[in-house]
Amino acid sequence: MSFTADRLLLFGATGDLAQRMLLPSLCALGVDKLIAPDLRIIGTARQDLDDQGYRNFTRAALEKFLPPDRRGSMAEFLNRLHYQPLDANDTAHFHSLAEKVGPIERGLSIFLSTAPSLFEPTIAGLVAGGLTGDKVRIGLEKPLGTDLETSREINDAVASAFSEDRIFRIDHYLGKETVQNLLALRFANIMFEPLWNAAHIDHVQITVAETVGLESRAGYYDGAGALRDMVQNHMLQLLALVAMEPPASFDATAVRDEKVKALRALRLTHPDETVTGQYRKGAIDGQPVAGYDDELGRDSDTETYVAIKAHIDNWRWKGVPFYLRTGKRMPQRRTEIVVQFRQVPHSIFAGRGARTEPNRLVIGIQPEENISLSLMAKVPGLDRDGIRLRAVPLDIAMPDAFAGPTKRIAYERLLLDLIEGDQTLFVRRDEVEAQWDWIDAIRASWAEHGVRPKSYTAGSWGPSAAVALTERDGATWHE
Ligand code: NAP
Repeated sequence: MSFTADRLLLFGATGDLAQRMLLPSLCALGVDKLIAPDLRIIGTARQDLDDQGYRNFTRAALEKFLPPDRRGSMAEFLNRLHYQPLDANDTAHFHSLAEKVGPIERGLSIFLSTAPSLFEPTIAGLVAGGLTGDKVRIGLEKPLGTDLETSREINDAVASAFSEDRIFRIDHYLGKETVQNLLALRFANIMFEPLWNAAHIDHVQITVAETVGLESRAGYYDGAGALRDMVQNHMLQLLALVAMEPPASFDATAVRDEKVKALRALRLTHPDETVTGQYRKGAIDGQPVAGYDDELGRDSDTETYVAIKAHIDNWRWKGVPFYLRTGKRMPQRRTEIVVQFRQVPHSIFAGRGARTEPNRLVIGIQPEENISLSLMAKVPGLDRDGIRLRAVPLDIAMPDAFAGPTKRIAYERLLLDLIEGDQTLFVRRDEVEAQWDWIDAIRASWAEHGVRPKSYTAGSWGPSAAVALTERDGATWHE
């Protein structure tokens, strides 16, 4: 059912994500008048606060995490906020929450920014409190389970109270402008799609590199590892957007139908086509940093790095490896997609001594949003000693190309879509399950072959075996 909610209920309203992303995004949307003036935002968590206490709490978060030029006066936004203390494990608390929310007239959007272990009791509480129904939709933060089975349990619990068209599974990468731009690049230009296949593309690389280590996430991260923390969700979503067939329209069903087909075509990966690593002490930006075990305070077999040579078994991508890699304590924070085209079939310049390099498209997602296409050009000169060619980049720095529009937090887009009910940039159940299916098979093969992470020095690009993973195919990681 199509409706724009006039109430937003935020679980985990005092958490890290709420402070750093959700509250700043909502305030910025309010300042830009993108949400209705009468949208009420009700926060809830166990902490004992009243409305005013939560407004003070939010003011402090906004002052810390939202740039002054996007805050406006804050007063108007703060006045929208209400708060109800609640323990999600106690169904009785949901009656007072329902009273605080008030009658659902135009619609209610709920955002669960709590640990997934609370999703099931929260759903039970929402049912008990009468906070479900046709005019209620729900957004869920990752991680959705730790494997296919647990993800199904969560999905079943949510489905018992909400139909799929009212479930919004969040992958905040899909809210990023450059990720959406990938679709514009592929499907709003004539020149890429005819080349976007095995005949013209040698391989694709997707890198999500972080400089941070464990931070304060030990409890979650050590049980998850890089494969489940990054590859299962963000990286497979990026892969699906690169690999999918053209959807007929930019709408939720069309886009997600095509993504899920690509995800289901992923071939089971052999352990030889994966490399796992765990960082040891080293240096980032010249500053010494501890190893993973030292940060954790004990030994662990959790991978903080993973590289995978993935294959998509369909007509378009036959024989084209998708190299995925993600790691903590890498030398740079960088998320990018590299599309490496093939060599020209015949170089007319070879007899004149010139070498050609294959074209390469680099889509930078963070920290910089840019698109760079390397093209061969002739080095100026009279060429008495032969022709020289060199790869030159055709660069589009997105912030420069579009100087006017504000650079937004990915959650601004996603929260607005949740309030207004557009599911295009949210992940459907069959996608999540196809993702887990593939990830579970990799983990099972690691267990079967006794795969343990190799050491790498913090501040390096991961274990040397990851270099071999690409180089034995004649490819090189883009660094
Ligand atoms: P967090 O800082 O630990 O916050 C958890 C929130 O849940 C707090 O508001 C906490 O407040 C509340 N809470 C805990 N137990 C509760 C209970 N029994 N009943 C009601 N509320 C309860 O976690 P976070 O970092 O904000 O992350 C929230 C979710 O988003 C997690 O699933 C996380 O994996 C996911 N996520 C986070 C990030 C990020 O950057 N932080 C990024 C992607 C995904 P009280 O203790 O006062 O109850």
